[in-house]
Amino acid sequence: MRLQVILNALERHGSFVYESAAWADSSKEGLLVRVRPRRRSRPICSGCGNRGGTYDHLPERRFQHVPLWGLAVWFVYAARRVACPVCGVKVERLPWASGKERTTSSFQWFLSRWAKRLSWRETAEIFGTSWHTVFRAVKMAVCWGIRHRELEGIEAIGIDEVAYRKGHQYFTLVYQIDRGSRRLLWVGQDRTKETLGRFFRFFGRRRTERLKYICSDMWKAYLSVIAREANGALHILDRFHIMQLFNKAIDKVRAQEARELKRKGFEVLKRTRWLLLKRRGNLKVSVATVACGGSRSR
Ligand SMILES: [Zn+2]
Repeated sequence: MRLQVILNALERHGSFVYESAAWADSSKEGLLVRVRPRRRSRPICSGCGNRGGTYDHLPERRFQHVPLWGLAVWFVYAARRVACPVCGVKVERLPWASGKERTTSSFQWFLSRWAKRLSWRETAEIFGTSWHTVFRAVKMAVCWGIRHRELEGIEAIGIDEVAYRKGHQYFTLVYQIDRGSRRLLWVGQDRTKETLGRFFRFFGRRRTERLKYICSDMWKAYLSVIAREANGALHILDRFHIMQLFNKAIDKVRAQEARELKRKGFEVLKRTRWLLLKRRGNLKVSVATVACGGSRSR
C-alpha cells in the first residue's frame, strides 16, 4: 500500500493532492510527502475565509505529521498567497495546520493525547519533536476544549486553593463535583475575594442561581464571597477544618478550666488533653484511671 493511499483514507483534503513520498536527505530525518493544490483550485484567504486568485507562491515549507513506524513524516508544501479583494495579499489558509504552525493539526492532537500519559519532555523525545511543540499542542487542545465545553446543568461546585512557589503564592481552583461529572472548571491567580469574585462573574448570574451545593474550606475570603454571590446554594464546609476548629475550642476551654481548678487547689483535669480530643471509639483508658492520676491516655 502506498503512503498516499493511507493519507487519502485518513486525512483527505479535497483541494489538495498528496504526491509521492520520498526519504528526506537522510532516512533518519524521515519521510517527505509533497503536497500540491488540485488543478484549478483557488486558495482560501486566511484573513476572511473567501476564495481568491493566486498572487504568488512562497518557498516550500515542512509540516511535521504523525510518525509512521517511528519515522518522522513531513508534508512539504509551497503555500500560495491570495489576491483577496477584501484583505489584500494574504497567505492562504491550510486545512492541515492552523495559523503559522509548522506541525499538522493531526500531529498536535496525537501529541496532546500522549502528553496526558507521559511528561511533555518524554513525549517530545519519543515522537521526535521539541518540548515547545508539545506545549503548543497541549495549549491547542485545551483552548479547543474551553471553546467547546458545556457549562449548563451544573449543580455542585467545589472551591479549593493550591499553593505553589513553596507556599508563598496560591491559585484558586473551582471544580464541578456533580455525581458522574467531575472536572476542573476554572483557575484564578491568588485566593482573595477578588479572585473568587472573578469566577462568579465568569460563571454568570443565571448559572450561579441554579447551583445547589458549594463545598469549600473555611478560608474567610471564600466564605464572604460565597455568601454574597450564591446565597441560594447550600454551602458545605469541609470536615477537616470544622474538626480542627472544634478541637482548638475544646483545648482552649480545657486549659482555662484546668487553670481555674488549679487556682482552687484541684488538679483533676491534668493530662486530659488527648483524652478530650480523641474519638470516643479510640478511647482505651477509663476515665477513672486518669482521674486517679494514671498513665497518660494517649
Ligand atoms: Zn480576505
